[in-house]
Amino acid sequence: MSNLPARLSELIGKPVHDIDTPALVIDMDALKRNLVRMADFAKKHHVRWRPHAKLHKSTVLAKMQIKAGAAGVCVQKTAEAEVMVAGGIYNVYISNQVIAPAKLARVAALTQAVASHRGGQIAIAVDSPEGVSRLAKAMTEARTSARSSVATVIDVFVEIDVGQGRCGAQPGEAAVKLALEIRKHPALRFAGLQAYQGKAQHLRSAIERRMAAASATKAVELTCQLLKAHGIAPGLVTGAGTGSFALEAASGVYGELQAGSFMFMDVDYAQNERDPAQPQFEHALFVKTQVISTHASHAVCDAGHKSHAIDSGMPKVHAFEKKSGLDYFNGGDEHGILRPVDGSDRLPALGQLLWLIPGHCDPTVNLHDVMIGVSGGLRNGTVDRIIQVDARGAMT
Ligand code: PLP
Ligand code: MN
Repeated sequence: MSNLPARLSELIGKPVHDIDTPALVIDMDALKRNLVRMADFAKKHHVRWRPHAKLHKSTVLAKMQIKAGAAGVCVQKTAEAEVMVAGGIYNVYISNQVIAPAKLARVAALTQAVASHRGGQIAIAVDSPEGVSRLAKAMTEARTSARSSVATVIDVFVEIDVGQGRCGAQPGEAAVKLALEIRKHPALRFAGLQAYQGKAQHLRSAIERRMAAASATKAVELTCQLLKAHGIAPGLVTGAGTGSFALEAASGVYGELQAGSFMFMDVDYAQNERDPAQPQFEHALFVKTQVISTHASHAVCDAGHKSHAIDSGMPKVHAFEKKSGLDYFNGGDEHGILRPVDGSDRLPALGQLLWLIPGHCDPTVNLHDVMIGVSGGLRNGTVDRIIQVDARGAMT
């Protein structure tokens, strides 16, 4: 926190009104309620949750999640794992394919860095024989050069493609082959299956998501049966995102949920027809903006697509209990265009403060150095902390 500009540190304890725009703001009360809902859900359904930290890239928020009951965090990148470990989070799962030897050497170093901490464990996913042998080589080299006598082991999940068509070995024999391969190496421990169905998350209707999750579950079951036939315990099955996690939790095969976005909730996820089995989450991440120019037909605010990601659609203007009556259109890097929804002449005044709910929360966070945590609500609350996006720009 030491390298924060003074104007940010000075905000702590000040009213929300004093936050200059554009700024990324967290409603900490809503965030905590979302965390409790997920923790309760996981407990009730006897599943672990290891939320995806690619969402917030923050060690402070990762610690809050662990305090609320999370088993650790998932990350997508080696550098994110390093940032988490340096910040005191010792159960980190890189739920992605890492192939470059230089990165794998860093992953191996992390396994040693966490070894002396209680519950410290690094995990990683693989989907190819070459991936397994490169990982094994990096682990062996790290063991040989380590000064400590502790022979560290990395948990390895075999990633299977359960319908997303991204990474992942084919379910069944190909996955079993990888598990057998992993078991040949003393520094690798076969930990289970990575089975994330990314495409299912944003299917709008609950029935479509159910069908996608059912098909993923089938692929997992088939693979688990084959593993058992080869005398291999299938281990933990991990996956799920904010759009589908209630389905994985009910599947009987998944033991761990990786959902991340539920903590902030964006416009895109809010458009999903809600599965009644899933808790209702609140929006907790906002871009505070203000009107800098007004015209007969529109107003202009100071948050453009350098303030929020637009890959999943435009932000929504938040209006608390009411409908805002304003539609947001992209006005470029630093501008947003606001028009009345119904063609009425109700436009905001010059200088008016507005709150935007981002279309997609993960890449929105990555545009900012800090998130400003507010408690007591967005209207009358106060700034209670400045949360750094620690792994921002941690690109490798
Ligand atoms: N797990 C993996 C492997 C992912 O790629 C993602 C997101 O893309 C998630 C979990 C978390 O999903 P969400 O943030 O949508 O809940
Ligand atoms: Mn996302």
